Parts: sequence; structure tokens; C-alpha cells
Amino acid sequence: MNELQKLYPSMDGNKVQREELLSYFKTVITKVDELKDPNKLTLGEMPEYTVDYYNRLIHQADIPETGTPMDEVIVKLLKLVEGHRYVNRNYVANAAPLPNIASIIGNLIMVLVNGNNLWDVEGPAAAAAEVEITSMLSKLIGYDENLSSGYTTWGGQGAVFNSLRLAIARYSPDSNQKGVPDNLYCFCSELSHYSLYKSVEATGIGVENMIRVKVNRDHSMNLEDLKEKMGHVIEKGGVPLYVLATMGTTDTFGIDDMEGIKRVTEELEVKHCLSPVYIHADSAMGGMYTFFNEYDFKSNHLKLEESVIQVLKSYQQKFKQIKLADSMVFDFHKLGQTPYITSLFLVKNRQHLKYVDLDEEETPYVGNRGYGNYHTGYTIECSRMGSSLAIYASLLAFGMEGYQELLANYIRVNMKFRERLVEEISNVVITNEKSPITTFRFYPEKIKWNDEWRGSLTVEEIMEINQFNDELAEVMSVYRDTVFFGNTKKQCLVEALNTDKRVPIYTHKFFSISPYTTIDEVDRYVDFLKGHLEMFKKTKMVCVN
Ligand SMILES: *Cc1c(COP(=O)(O)O)cnc(C)c1O
Repeated sequence: MNELQKLYPSMDGNKVQREELLSYFKTVITKVDELKDPNKLTLGEMPEYTVDYYNRLIHQADIPETGTPMDEVIVKLLKLVEGHRYVNRNYVANAAPLPNIASIIGNLIMVLVNGNNLWDVEGPAAAAAEVEITSMLSKLIGYDENLSSGYTTWGGQGAVFNSLRLAIARYSPDSNQKGVPDNLYCFCSELSHYSLYKSVEATGIGVENMIRVKVNRDHSMNLEDLKEKMGHVIEKGGVPLYVLATMGTTDTFGIDDMEGIKRVTEELEVKHCLSPVYIHADSAMGGMYTFFNEYDFKSNHLKLEESVIQVLKSYQQKFKQIKLADSMVFDFHKLGQTPYITSLFLVKNRQHLKYVDLDEEETPYVGNRGYGNYHTGYTIECSRMGSSLAIYASLLAFGMEGYQELLANYIRVNMKFRERLVEEISNVVITNEKSPITTFRFYPEKIKWNDEWRGSLTVEEIMEINQFNDELAEVMSVYRDTVFFGNTKKQCLVEALNTDKRVPIYTHKFFSISPYTTIDEVDRYVDFLKGHLEMFKKTKMVCVN
């Protein structure tokens, strides 16, 4: 065997080469395990992130003249892992997953055969898995699996982009040739993810044609405001093209009323003889809760507690309507706990993909060969990783019940956290509905949340409370290798007495995502907050005096 061949897995499946590869896997997994500490968030020690950290990396980086032995390559790689956050019980910041074992193996298989999800001749495993998960998940949400279509793409943001591109091409089929008309408008709630912002930039629609709709107290889109703003656009001669219905806002888990949005758009379509308005359900955060769409709460075979059931029942009502959307997304790499990137974009009517498909003449490399039946000329990607394998593996390993247990536990832990937080700390308020996320805000003295909501504070008063929370977040982040909480600088927007502009509210965020985040851990989280809050208040007093 020549030297370069040694850098590859075997051609014939011989034992010697297999053992060598396995020994590398074993070393890597063992070394990462050695860095784990259940009392810390990080694997080993964090590097010192001095201001010149990345500059030093830039200076020292060089391609070695000759190859580096594999043992040394592994040492170098493991060095990068040191100080990495690990999604164990101390991680309560964001929707970052700890990939489950089935998904790791699915991913490994994808790498071992390195299929290209562009074409079934190049990637039959991923093509078949993609077709299967598209059918499984279509059935779950109530799309007709014989009419729907789906493909894995670059995240929840990619799904928004893909859906907007589809909406434009459906409305104006010759826009692919002539460019995008300049009178198209998109609508989203003011708490929607910035994915649409990026997509209107990238498609050329322009940010000025993206209209933000106010939210209700439960963080869902206000339908009156939507109707009014769509009406304005129509009056001006604009075309309401697209509504982004967020099903689970990123920070607060607000869920838009899909049925209501559909009603508003259909009324306007009839009244003004409009083409159908495209609705994409941005379910990147909430989509997994469709696993409860058919759950029978009466027989309740998982024996969930009444309080958890109450929350899940309200979700069932909302998520059953997701089938009204023209498209939606499953971000498994959030609440589904698989590696990045594992997002499935689902389209209700596969006929719509013809508007964005490439002409066969444009794909001479793969599209019009006489072999293979599955070719994705409609994706934005050309080569595409087979991330459907990781999703497929997880769906098999968890089953409906496994995912239901996992998702119910997120709620259970959050409810316990809410309960303990207000019991232990007097000047804190919880600012969102019960969900897998809890946002909360501290006050230097008295709680003023109701005044803030009513708009009876000045912008200066609100900003002072924001500042207090921001500084506390800064202090706690120093100890983030013990417990890592999230925070946000726009949990919602409120009116203020002395300005026309709406003012953002800063909050902290508790996000239970790890399977190791259980109700037994809740007191640790609350103690951490309490301790750091007291410490912070003391240092503030010293500064004032
Ligand atoms: C996370 C998120 C996105 C972006 O998803 P990525 O997978 O990170 O691209 C879009 N919308 C919502 C509501 C999200 O929470």
C-alpha cells in the first residue's frame, strides 16, 4: 500500500485498516470523555480569549510542508475541543442540541459513503432517507404525503429563504428570467427571526418591503394589525406576497394563529381579487411539538401530569393548524437533538417546485442522464449533504413516544423552574407563557412589569432596568462554565411615555434542552441565579457609595 492510500479507509474491508480506523475513533471518543465534568459546562479549560486571540491564530497558521502523523493530527484536533461548551445539565442558554447517538451514527454513515444528496445515483442512501422522512413528517403534520415534497437544507433560515423564493416564482413565473417585481411585500411579526430580513435582502425584495406586525401579549402576531397593514399595501398598489407565521418565536416561544392568518389573507384575496398569498410556517423552534398533534390526552398513555397536559393541549390546538401553511420546517438540530445541520423544508404541494426547478439543459452534469430518478434541481445548493440520515435514525430510535417524552420534559422542567424562581427571588418577573423557554427579568427594587406593559414608564426608566439586567448577565457570563443562562435584548417591545418609538425589553433566558436537564436540577439553577444576583447587588452598592 502506498503512503497516500494509508490516509484512507480500505478498499476491500480488511481487518488491519478497520482496526486502525477504529483505534482513532476510540482515542477521540475516550479523550473527549476524559474532558467531561458534570459540574462544569466546558470540556476542560477554556482558552484565554484575549483580544489578540484570533490574531495569534492567524500568525501561527501554516500548511505543514510534509504530512503530520495521524496521532498528532488528533492531538491538534483535541486541543481545539478544550473549553468547548458541552450540552449537559449546566447548559440552559439556547436551542443548542446534544446530538443523540442514533443521529451520530446516521451522520457517520453519511460520511463513510459520502453520498451527495443532489442525485440518487450519487447518494442513494440520503435520497431514500429523505423521501421517507418527508413522508413520515408530512403524515405527522397533516400534509398529504402523496402531494407534498421536502428536502433538507441550510437551516431554518434556509427554509425561509427557499419558501420566499418559491412564493416569488409562483406569483410571477417569469421573475426567474426578468428579475423580481418591485411591488411585492412580505409580512412577519415583530418578534420573528431575522431569517426573513436576510431573505428579503438576498432575493432583492428589499427590507423596506418587509412589514413588521405587532404582537399580542402572548407574543403571537396581532391579526388586526396584520389586516390593517396588508390593507395599506393594497391601497398603495402593492402586492401582499408572503406571510411568515412564526410557530415558536426564538426567545419566547410565541405561536402565531395560523388559522387566523389564513382567514385574514383569504378575505383579502377575495375582496381584492388577489393571487393567493404564500404562507410559510417558521416552525424552526416549535415544529417538534407537532408530535403531540394526535396525542390522546384522555387516555394519556405516557401518564403526563395535569399541568404539563394543559400546556400541551394548547399547543395541540395551534400546531394542528400548521397544515394550512404552504410550507414549514423541522429544525431537528434544535429541539429534535441532532447534529448541525439537520433541517427539513416541507412543501405542501410539490407542483409548486416546478416554478424554481432548473431546466434540464442547465444541468448537463447530472440532470438529464438516463439513470436515476431523484434529482434536486430546485434546491439552492448543488452538492448537498445527506443530513436526512441523521433525522431518519433519530426518528427510528426515539419513535413517537420517545420524542413526546423528551418534549414533555422540556415543559415540565420549565414549570418547575418558574415555580422555584418566584418562590426564591422577590424582585423577578416571568415574561412569557409556559413553554420550553422561560424569559425572566430582574428589577433593582420593585417589580414594574405591569407598568412597562401598560406603557406608563419613561424610556429612561425602562432602559435603567434593562441596564441592570444587562450588567447582571455580564457578571453571570463570567461564570458560564458553571451554569450558562441565555439572555436577549429584544424579548418584546413596549410603549413608553415620552417617545413614539417602542422600547425593547431585556431579559434572561432559561432554555432546557439537554436530556440531563431534569427537575432534580432546578434548585441548582435557581441557587446560581440567587447567589449571583446577591453578589451583583453588593458590588453595585459598593460602587454607588
Ligand atoms: C433558529 C430559528 C431560525 C433559524 O434556524 P437555523 O436552523 O439556525 O438557520 C429561524 N426561525 C426561528 C423561529 C428560529 O428559532
